[in-house]
Amino acid sequence: MTDDRPRIGISACLLGQPVRFDTGHKRDPFLVETFGEHVEWVPVCPEMEAGFGTPRESMRLVLTEPQVRERGERYDPSKIALRLNKQGTDVTERLVSYSKPRAEELAAAGLSGFVLKKDSPSCGMERVKVYSPEGPGERAGRGLFAEALMARLPNLPVEEEGRLGDPRLRENFVERVFAYQRLVALFAGRWTVGSVVAFHTAHKLTLMAHSPVAYRELGQMVADAKQRERGEFAGEYQARFMKALAAIATPKRQANVLQHMLGYFSNDIDQDARNELLQLIEEHRLGSVPLVVPMTLMKHHVRRQQVTYLLGQTYLDPHPRELSLRNHV
Ligand code: SF4
Repeated sequence: MTDDRPRIGISACLLGQPVRFDTGHKRDPFLVETFGEHVEWVPVCPEMEAGFGTPRESMRLVLTEPQVRERGERYDPSKIALRLNKQGTDVTERLVSYSKPRAEELAAAGLSGFVLKKDSPSCGMERVKVYSPEGPGERAGRGLFAEALMARLPNLPVEEEGRLGDPRLRENFVERVFAYQRLVALFAGRWTVGSVVAFHTAHKLTLMAHSPVAYRELGQMVADAKQRERGEFAGEYQARFMKALAAIATPKRQANVLQHMLGYFSNDIDQDARNELLQLIEEHRLGSVPLVVPMTLMKHHVRRQQVTYLLGQTYLDPHPRELSLRNHV
């Protein structure tokens, strides 16, 4: 039996492993009990793997020189050090020299995503507190391991467990994980322009729901694929595809896509059925009902009318139904 569940890296403390500095953990019930049913976890604790052990002294990010930055910008990671809280010992080199080769290993491990522990000076993805000798810390850093991981795998879907508490961010992350798995599988094999066209066609409505601009631009890129050098095309398509999916599919965009879908079979159903569907689409656009409501009726019509193009769209079922992610967006 083959296991085609996506492999997802995860900060090991989120799975309940007692790897935190105080020998505790930060078990996350959604990740362990719900999402965990559908993925294969690859746990990583950078501080343990770098040899710090438990219990250990807690650490913090510290500015090594003053920095001017725009509002909302992160600090330059080359001017940040990782220090032990009490002793003040600089352990930057130890964690960086572990993280770079570990990120290289993870790049070869066939991951389709990574869930990081928020606020950690090693694992945090964003808004990690950076202390400065002059004043209170600012939330403008990224953990050192997260930095190495995201630099090595820039297209990989990465999220923090804290942000996954937001239903839209959660739905977006899980959708990206499964899309990334398909994308990597496409380009890992002996791909042809025909196989890229088939992949792109199946994801058209997904792209439209996330970014109408990217939908048009990627369509043009695929149309010109034969004129492009293969490696360059593959790299650019993957980067732009994943960037497009990182934009949140808002109710307004979902409504536009659903109306677009209705156009494929509008003349094949009666006025009452059409009005019922349009009403639910509008209610979703206005925020009165979750996406699952118009989507369920849409799927019913698509199946009944056997609209081949729509039946082939990943948009209809982008992630396992049991996760019920569209019940909350
Ligand atoms: S946040 Fe990262 S480094 Fe800290 S305990 Fe969890 S996995 Fe280990």
